[in-house]
Formats: sequence, structure tokens, C-alpha cells
Amino acid sequence: VAVNRAWRQFAMDNHGGADGVLEGSNYLQACRPDGIGQPQAADAQGASFAEQLSQVLSGRSTGFQFEYPCHSSTEKRWFLARVMRIEGSDPPRTVVAHDDITALKLTQESLRQSEALLLDLAASIPGAMFRLVQLAGGGWRFVYFSPGIAQLFELTPDQVCGDIRILGRYILPEDLPAHDQSVRDAVRAHRDWEYEYRIVTPGGVLKWVHAKASPKPGVGGDMVWTGVLTDVSERKHMETVLRASESRYRMLFETVPQGVVFQDATGRITSANPAAQRILGLSLPQMQGRTSIDPRWRAVREDGSDFPGDQHPAMQALRTGLPMQGVRMGVHVPDRGLVWLQVSAIPLYHQGVIDEVYASFEDITERVHLDRELQTQAATDFLTGLSNRRQLMTDLAHEFERCRRQPGTACSVLAVDLDHFKDVNDRWGHAVGDAVLCHVARLMGEEIRLNDRVARSGGEEFILVLPGTGADEAMALANRLRQRLEQHPLAGPEGPIPVTASIGVGLILPDDASADAALARADQALYDAKHAGRNAVRLATGPA
Ligand code: GH3
Ligand code: MG
Ligand code: MG
Repeated sequence: VAVNRAWRQFAMDNHGGADGVLEGSNYLQACRPDGIGQPQAADAQGASFAEQLSQVLSGRSTGFQFEYPCHSSTEKRWFLARVMRIEGSDPPRTVVAHDDITALKLTQESLRQSEALLLDLAASIPGAMFRLVQLAGGGWRFVYFSPGIAQLFELTPDQVCGDIRILGRYILPEDLPAHDQSVRDAVRAHRDWEYEYRIVTPGGVLKWVHAKASPKPGVGGDMVWTGVLTDVSERKHMETVLRASESRYRMLFETVPQGVVFQDATGRITSANPAAQRILGLSLPQMQGRTSIDPRWRAVREDGSDFPGDQHPAMQALRTGLPMQGVRMGVHVPDRGLVWLQVSAIPLYHQGVIDEVYASFEDITERVHLDRELQTQAATDFLTGLSNRRQLMTDLAHEFERCRRQPGTACSVLAVDLDHFKDVNDRWGHAVGDAVLCHVARLMGEEIRLNDRVARSGGEEFILVLPGTGADEAMALANRLRQRLEQHPLAGPEGPIPVTASIGVGLILPDDASADAALARADQALYDAKHAGRNAVRLATGPA
């Protein structure tokens, strides 16, 4: 009967003309297939619309609403058709109004999408999201729980939302009071709530739960808490394991008798255990200031030479990336002097880079002293304190090697045997004989030069090695020695105890095969001296 201007415009825009939908047209027909709307949805929708419209027209219904898409080639659109019989009209009249609801539709769609996104997010986070309302009228109500609660508490969102107390039932009784207190504190302060507690799920699994929620004012004085519960059992387990291993390590570090120090990449000490502090005589703060190259260590090697700081095992380990084992070094310790250490150092890698080294060391001072003592004992004649025969042979072999390396270098060997020494023992006793041996040793020690070596090679026999000394000089020294013994008898309680010596002099010769040759020559010369009546010196005449 009548159309308004908007319909006319719509018809123009969408049908390219006004045919079939303006005054005088049969609207029911226009609604049938190929009528309103787009081809794809038009058939069924148009038929349904026409059917409902005809019911209104025939008086079987008073009106209806009908939503339909009506997309153009360039945009998506939706319309809402409202069909109303005009009450009391005669003949009956019906108004059909079409509203463009595209904007509303699009808003609804984007809302639907963002809600779906939220739900997806809620379902995918490891834990459960929730919304808890603190009602203005008192009381609490869970209004939302994400599906993650099933995984965490083995309860459905509905179960939890239906019973505000249900979660509390699974919290370990010993954790519950502190948990409740933390909630009360957060509520009172209107502050974020964050807390970790243990639960035992309905299935009997012990879990650690981390809870966090923030408050926001809701409608009507409600306070809305939105938060998340996450399962932190694994982290807690790792923390426990770490704590246990840390405390084991700490106990070891504190109690091992070895010194242990950690040093950073520059060699600076960062920590030191009590043993290290005790051995090095330094407190932790004193040590933390030091590096391996600090000159105050005054480190030395076993042969007494300097041990440069950059050669320290820790520095070598840092430089080479390789562990260093069992390095002996002496360091100067306040109040203790030179302390001997056996040091190992192991580089520590963090993500492929050496950024730390740990050095462990043992105080081997006593062992070193004992070793040295044993070495000395093994080389010394216990009665006179001179070298023994063993040491003498070593010294002689060195000299022999030196003569060989440096042709033209002379070296003499003196074989000394006390004359009629048996008589000394027989007359004054063995103890006095011993005293005489010591006396002779002292006199010889006074007569020789710095580089000369003197040894007691047996009973009342002595050998002297005189490096750099040719025949004349050696003869002179032998004679001085012989005279000295003769002229300086040991003063005994009942008067002097005279003793003389026979001395044979031999030289190391260029063709000698070993040091023994010179020794044999000296022995031969000694034999000659004895033969010549004793208290005499003889030079070996040629190769023995
Ligand atoms: P000769 O002039 O021929 O060398 O006569 P000698 O008596 O010295 O020679 P012999 O080798 O017969 O005797 C060496 C003596 O030295 C025998 C032993 O009583 C004595 N003697 C050896 N070792 C010791 C010792 O450690 N202490 C003492 N008191 N006497 C010793
Ligand atoms: Mg003898
Ligand atoms: Mg003798």
C-alpha cells in the first residue's frame, strides 16, 4: 500500500530498480525465491519469511521478528524485519519494517570472538583462572573457574563454583591457617593476594599450588577478585632437591680438611672454606681481596725458585680450560712461615664459558719436612753428620759428568784412612774412637772449600771430592789435612788422643769410563801411602 523513502532507496540500491517491491507490488511474491535477500540464503529464508507474513496477513498471528543476512557484493549486512498487524485496522493492515542491524551483529560477533579467545586462553594456561566475588551484603561466591581446575584439584568448575568451601577441604590442615590468614590480610588491605600452599587432591596426590589474585570494585559495592591457581609442584620439588644438595655441598665445603676456594675468571677469590682460611692463615674477607697473582703469597717451587702467580694451577686451569692436579707449592702464611700445599684446580663452565675455577689444596708441610728429613738421613752418616758413601757416589757421578761435558775441567778424589785406628779403640774404647771420628770429620770440614765434598765412606775411611782441583792443589790440600790431623789430636780426659791418616789422591781422567776409575786410583794411592809407612800422602801415578 505504501513504502517510505528509506525502503525506496534500499530497493533502488539493491534491485537496480523499484520493480516488484514498491506500491502496487505483491510483497509476498517478492519474498518468494528470487525475491529479497541474496541468492544463496534467499530461497529458504524468503520462503520462511513469506510463510510467516502470510499468517499475519490472514490474521492467524499478530506479528513476528525475522533476522536475515543481506550481503551485498561489497559488504556484509544483516537486517531485522519486524512485522506487525496494525491493531483495529479495517481492512487489516500490516507494517513491515526492516532495520539494518549490521553494526549490532558485528559487535556481537567480535564479543563472541573475544569471549572465545578468553575461554581458549583460560583453558590453555597451566592452572585455573577464577573470579571470586566478595558480595557487598557479605559472603563470597565463585562466579567463574576455568576448566584447568579439573587438572589441578580434580574438581569440575561447577563443583567449585557451587561450594565456596570446597577448595579449603583439600588444603593440608597444617597449611590452612596461614593460607586463611594470607587471604584475610589481602582482603583487609585490598591488595593483591599471592600465596603458595599444599593440597592433597581427592585422588590423594600432594601438590603445591601457587595462588595469585587481584581485587577490583564490581557493581553494587561488590569486590571482584580475579586470579589464577597454578601447579608449582615441580618447581617446589626442584627447590627441595636443590636445597638438599646445596646443604650437602655446604656441609662438605664447611667440613672437609682440604682447603677449597672459588675464584672468578680473573683469579679473584670469591669464597673459601674454613679449612682454606685455617691453612692460609687468612680470614674470608682478607682472602676475598686476593688473586692468585697477588705477590703477598710469595709462592715458591720445591727447588726454592719463584712460583709466578700466573703459573698457579687455578690460573692455568682458567687459561687452558683443563684441570690441574697435585701441584706442589710453598706459600708464605702469616705467623706460620712457609707452608707447603698440594694444589688441584678445576675450571667451571657456565654455558660453555669458563667463568670460575675451584682450587682445592692440602697442607703437606709436615709431609714435605718429613720427606726432606728422610732424604737428608738417607744421605748422611749418622755419627759424623757428613755425607755417607751413597751420597758421595752421587756427588762424584755429578762431578764426573761435569768433567765430561766440560773437557779440561779437573777434579780430584782423596781417599783417607786413619792409621792404626783399631789401636785407638783398643786403648780408649769404642766411644772414644767414635769421638775421634767426629773430631776428624770436623777438622776435615774446616779444611775444605765451599764446593768440596767430604763423606765418611766406611768405618774410619773418608773420601773427599774436590771439583775444579788439579793434582798439585789436591796434593797440597791432602798434606794440609794430614798435618792438621797430626797436629790437632782430640783432647781426651786423660790427655790428647793422637791419630794420623794416610791419604791417596786420584784424578778424574778424560778417558775414564766412570767415576769409579778415579776412586780406584785414589785407593791405590792410599794403599801406597800405607805401604810407605802411614801418615803419608800419595798421588796415583797413572790409570788404575
Ligand atoms: P790401618 O792403619 O791398617 O788402617 O789400621 P787400622 O787399625 O785402622 O785398620 P783396620 O781396618 O784393621 O781397623 C779399622 C778399625 O776401625 C776397626 C774398627 O774397630 C774401627 N772402626 C770401624 N768403624 C768404627 C766406628 O764406627 N767406631 C769406632 N769407634 N771404631 C770403628
Ligand atoms: Mg780402614
Ligand atoms: Mg785404618
